[in-house]
Amino acid sequence: MGKMLSKQVIEDIRSRNDITEVIGAYIRLKRAGSAFKALCPFHKEKTPSFQVNPHKQIFHCFGCGKGGDVFSFLMEYEGMSFIEAAKVLAERAGMNIEWEDADSRAAGRTDKNRLYQVHEEVVQFYRERLKSAPAAEPARAYLKDRQLDGEIGDTFQFGYAPDEWDALITWGRKKGFSIELLDELGLVIKSEKGDKTHYYDRFRKRIMIPIRDELGRPIAFTGRVLSADQHGGKYVNSPETILFSKSRALFAVDKARRAIVDERRAIVCEGQIDAIRCHQAGLITVVASQGTALTGQHAHLLKRYADEVVLMLDADKAGEDAALRGAHVLMDAGLSVLIAQLPTGEDPDTMLLNQGKDAFLALVDNAQSVVEFQLNILAAREDLSTEAGVMRAERAVLETIQHAQSALLRDRFVQQVSERLGVRENALRVDLKSQADHRPSTRETQPLPPRQSPATRKTRHPHDELALVELLLAHPGIAPLVETYLTPYDLTDPLCRKMTLLLIEHQDDPGFRLLDHLDAGDQVSNSLITHLEMAPSRVLADEIPPERAAQDLILCLRRNSLERERAHLRSVMQAVEPAEQSELQIRSFELTHQLAALRQGWSAAVPFLENPDRSE
Ligand code: ATP
Ligand code: MN
Repeated sequence: MGKMLSKQVIEDIRSRNDITEVIGAYIRLKRAGSAFKALCPFHKEKTPSFQVNPHKQIFHCFGCGKGGDVFSFLMEYEGMSFIEAAKVLAERAGMNIEWEDADSRAAGRTDKNRLYQVHEEVVQFYRERLKSAPAAEPARAYLKDRQLDGEIGDTFQFGYAPDEWDALITWGRKKGFSIELLDELGLVIKSEKGDKTHYYDRFRKRIMIPIRDELGRPIAFTGRVLSADQHGGKYVNSPETILFSKSRALFAVDKARRAIVDERRAIVCEGQIDAIRCHQAGLITVVASQGTALTGQHAHLLKRYADEVVLMLDADKAGEDAALRGAHVLMDAGLSVLIAQLPTGEDPDTMLLNQGKDAFLALVDNAQSVVEFQLNILAAREDLSTEAGVMRAERAVLETIQHAQSALLRDRFVQQVSERLGVRENALRVDLKSQADHRPSTRETQPLPPRQSPATRKTRHPHDELALVELLLAHPGIAPLVETYLTPYDLTDPLCRKMTLLLIEHQDDPGFRLLDHLDAGDQVSNSLITHLEMAPSRVLADEIPPERAAQDLILCLRRNSLERERAHLRSVMQAVEPAEQSELQIRSFELTHQLAALRQGWSAAVPFLENPDRSE
């Protein structure tokens, strides 16, 4: 489904979407001089290191290193592709963009956008039936009985699938939606008898609840029976389709997203109706895992909006173990996790109906840390007055602590365990360490890329080469100097080399932006560029003129380059015949000579720089 946009269109979209407005719609920006500051939405922090520069139309976080332009912000924040981001931004600016269609035909599949559109019409089809079909009276009565009639049904767009085998198929035929299309959406079931293929509606005689992705696009349905004695499962879901993956989707995330971002905290419960009831009660940070185990993909989605997750838990043993596993998955993603336990026999839905919002909120406020929660379970399951019981409990709880991503958190957990089990903290730390050493590495199994500290990211690019790019960005006037006295071979880092060449090439173009010329989705280059553009200059003290700084850097980079060449020569020399050695020897002497000159400062070095006489 490759779509293309011309450079001009991309530039147009960018210029019509002010980055402060776009980012400001997600997080609160505070003016700080000519820039804006905020708490970084991509990592947890207490003091704002996330900056938006309206002049350059870029953002950068000095804490985690993320950065880029308005496109990359949406890609990072919403997990969109570049094309999706472009679409959203174009729509936002009221633009009609022209797509250069690359291969959607060739793929032989229906365009995703078309699938969303058709799906949305299906939502309306079911909705229409619920509202006006006489046969839907029991469905309306059911919803009324559960106090799910009225406004909440509009918000979540409840519908009704009639008790017929082909209601949807017939409607689709009239609308021009083929069976194949409905099949791609998982809305029909194929049956093959002999050599005859036959299709019928998947959802029949069910309350239909649309499941949407974080952008509000309909990706699936869940259908609930009207009574316990109805044939089939209590809930039937759409199967896995191009649009829907149960292990990624979180019910109500589209409606909860904004509120979660504001609070940086999400509440996760199990059932769709539970989430709906919570939203009805004004608890709008609630999403539902829809009866499946939490996966790394769920965690990753949540991590985009939240730092902390409260798991709402039904009180049974299966629930406890599932909650613990879910907690581990969330912790692996760097989320902090709290667990709130419901009274026996209640789920969030009945809890809110029976005991009210305040009682529910009290549960959330009294949520326990994962370790406290586990210790409570263990206390009920193990005999903690015996040494064996304590040891088993310790092992189980240390396993949980291994999932905590921050040392601070691990420390706090160790303290809690120490108090509870009566084991000294030091002993726990020793056991924690040895257990960690023997633990199979979770790196490979983690669905998330390992997070990098800003420190490791910076050292990946040689300091002097970065400094050169930074200097070129701040003082384009030095470009001729660099162009004359350095060659691309003097830079080892491909990204630094590319940026230097671009800056030299476009030295006369005042509107030139590095970001436009590098891969928009590449966080490494985004992060580096925005860092370089927004960081206070590390290169220059006030009294050093830029030319002088450039000369120093050029000397330094040339020296490094010559030294690399000499080292290379020496290793080659050992491997060749004596006859060839002498020639290499001469070159090596030359290099030593040049290096000596370069060490004597700019004037002494210039003759060698102007006539580098290199063999490449
Ligand atoms: P309700 O209040 O309507 O009975 P619930 O959420 O309380 O729904 P549970 O039996 O607690 O239902 O199940 C929890 C969740 O597990 C459901 O919301 C649903 O997402 C999922 N689920 C339950 N039964 C099924 C089923 N037969 N097929 C698929 N998913 C199911
Ligand atoms: Mn329920």
